[in-house]
Amino acid sequence: MEPILEIKHLNSFYRQGGNAFSKGKTVQVLKDVSVTIHQGEVLGLVGESGSGKSTLAKSILGMTEYQGTITHHSRRPQMVFQDPYSSLNPAFTIRRIVEEPLRIYGKYSPQERRRRAEEMLESVGLGPEFHDRKPAQLSGGQRQRVSIAAALILKPKLVILDEAVSALDVTIQDQILDLLMELRETYDLSYLFISHDLNVIYQCCDRVIVMQKGVIVEENTVDGIFDQPVHPYTKQLLKAAE
Ligand code: ADP
Ligand code: MG
Repeated sequence: MEPILEIKHLNSFYRQGGNAFSKGKTVQVLKDVSVTIHQGEVLGLVGESGSGKSTLAKSILGMTEYQGTITHHSRRPQMVFQDPYSSLNPAFTIRRIVEEPLRIYGKYSPQERRRRAEEMLESVGLGPEFHDRKPAQLSGGQRQRVSIAAALILKPKLVILDEAVSALDVTIQDQILDLLMELRETYDLSYLFISHDLNVIYQCCDRVIVMQKGVIVEENTVDGIFDQPVHPYTKQLLKAAE
């Protein structure tokens, strides 16, 4: 399988307390992380809260300081976050929210932007009756559909889903997971699927990496992780998910 993203010996840092006279101190979060995401695969990233999962996502998008190499073999990845409410502009209609990345990109006429946004909303299951609504008029699941449409409008090949279904009830989670798997086929996507919840990871991932305190402690197929976990931390996560 062709790689879509290659990360080698990544060490990621946050800087704290800097000012005009001092750079502040750096806090290292990720330690020697190497991982490859292949075209078309769903790679799960699991670990407890604070283990560094979002930091890996941020490093991929260039939002942290880091050492090591991150090689992209496709267009810029797009990201879907846990809480669609805080990431959707409450003043905009959902059509406008989905159009917005195209405005910034600047290549299309207003008619073409609108057509593309409406088509993308259709493919995430939001018909014309939703186009003029504001985020507050939607359910949590519907808002997450809007976030997904806004992430896909620029036709990325890799999408990072950071706890994208974690805030939703289980039945809504299942609907969004089904949608994500359908969109993956339609648009030939790869996902980095981040979750603290192994049950969700089990439902949708091909391969899984397990992160503890900024270190990848185990990497295997989803069946390998669930049937023959090797690292004590993986076993502990599995026990907690029973
Ligand atoms: P996860 O997504 O697995 O819950 P994070 O990547 O958000 O974990 O956080 C990993 C560690 O990095 C935590 O200890 C957290 O406190 C720290 N951290 C996250 N963001 C920042 C930041 N902007 N500045 C300093 N430390 C941070
Ligand atoms: Mg996180």
